[in-house]
Amino acid sequence: MTALRDILLRQIATTGPMPVSDYMTTCLLHPEHGYYTTRDPLGRAGDFITAPEISQMFGELIGLCLAQSWIDQGQPSPFVLAELGPGRGTLMADILRTTAKVPGFSDAVQVHLVEASPTLRASQSKLIPNATWHDNIDTLPQLPLFLVANEFFDALPIRQFVRDGAGWRERVIGAEQNVLTFGLSGAAPLSDLAHRLDDTQDGDLVETCPALPGIMRQISTRIETFGGAALIIDYGDWHSLGDTLQALQDHQTIDPLHHPGDADLTSHVDFEAIAQHASPAAFTRVTPQGVFLERLGITERAKTLATPLSGQALENHIAAHHRLTHPEQMGHLFKVIGIFPTAATPPPGLET
Ligand code: SAH
Repeated sequence: MTALRDILLRQIATTGPMPVSDYMTTCLLHPEHGYYTTRDPLGRAGDFITAPEISQMFGELIGLCLAQSWIDQGQPSPFVLAELGPGRGTLMADILRTTAKVPGFSDAVQVHLVEASPTLRASQSKLIPNATWHDNIDTLPQLPLFLVANEFFDALPIRQFVRDGAGWRERVIGAEQNVLTFGLSGAAPLSDLAHRLDDTQDGDLVETCPALPGIMRQISTRIETFGGAALIIDYGDWHSLGDTLQALQDHQTIDPLHHPGDADLTSHVDFEAIAQHASPAAFTRVTPQGVFLERLGITERAKTLATPLSGQALENHIAAHHRLTHPEQMGHLFKVIGIFPTAATPPPGLET
């Protein structure tokens, strides 16, 4: 029995079944046993691999996109370059290397990282020694904000509700004979979900992300007030319907209740919810990652990088390009949405 399973079972015995969001928070961020608190889950040897870990081209193009937005908005100085959930720091390091060639950028930039995991903060500080770290987004400076979040929103805890007549039952996690099990709460009308009565039927499951509105308010208000742009990249789609809670261990999908604290827990991101909370700033259409990277010139960049390569290194490089852009790999499942000031032009690669 993992230490965390013990803690969860005791908590359920004391206070009763818990919402999926509480289960996710404990599994991912428990100070001693949480998944992100205790390890670096990224890379081939970890449980999953992300776009910046696949190829430097990802961070380079994100960097050029943000730098172009910064130029389009008159090169505000000073400004904040922020990342939510920077993992190993690879994406930010690639962004900074690329934007160092943009005149004036390095003199004006202040790097701010929002990261909950002490283990990952330690990795990030090796690559980005001059950053400032934050526990959450609220403490980011009140300055022009250029922000990226790759595979951050999918790690935020969600709640799940199953339609029952004109009301909802919450999917909860309880225990039967010391085994964690899913159950349903009593029926409750939920004003937050009133609009979902139109597009669901009895038995349908919808997901909400309680932290999302507050995070989006912080981003959008700064961008509209001071200028800036945000690129939010993740797997998911417009409009959430159905159970997307997923546990990954060693690159395999497993039962989300089987290895609490030892598996990554995520859900698909509902881009409609992100757009709904983008006000007072403007938002772009949701664009597939493959289309976005092609528009920013990934194929040209891939050709340049391929020139000195041969053999296995060349094959790996071609495979990485394919993996980031091909519709059957990350190109279609992953989406990008941009947030920008209502008076500005959208970030390159995205359209309204
Ligand atoms: N963006 C990185 C890592 C993605 S993994 C990449 O693309 O490789 C998710 C990241 O978000 C990790 O760094 C994790 O520690 C962080 N994270 C998860 N939940 C968080 C929270 N509630 N607050 C801050 N950081 C969080």
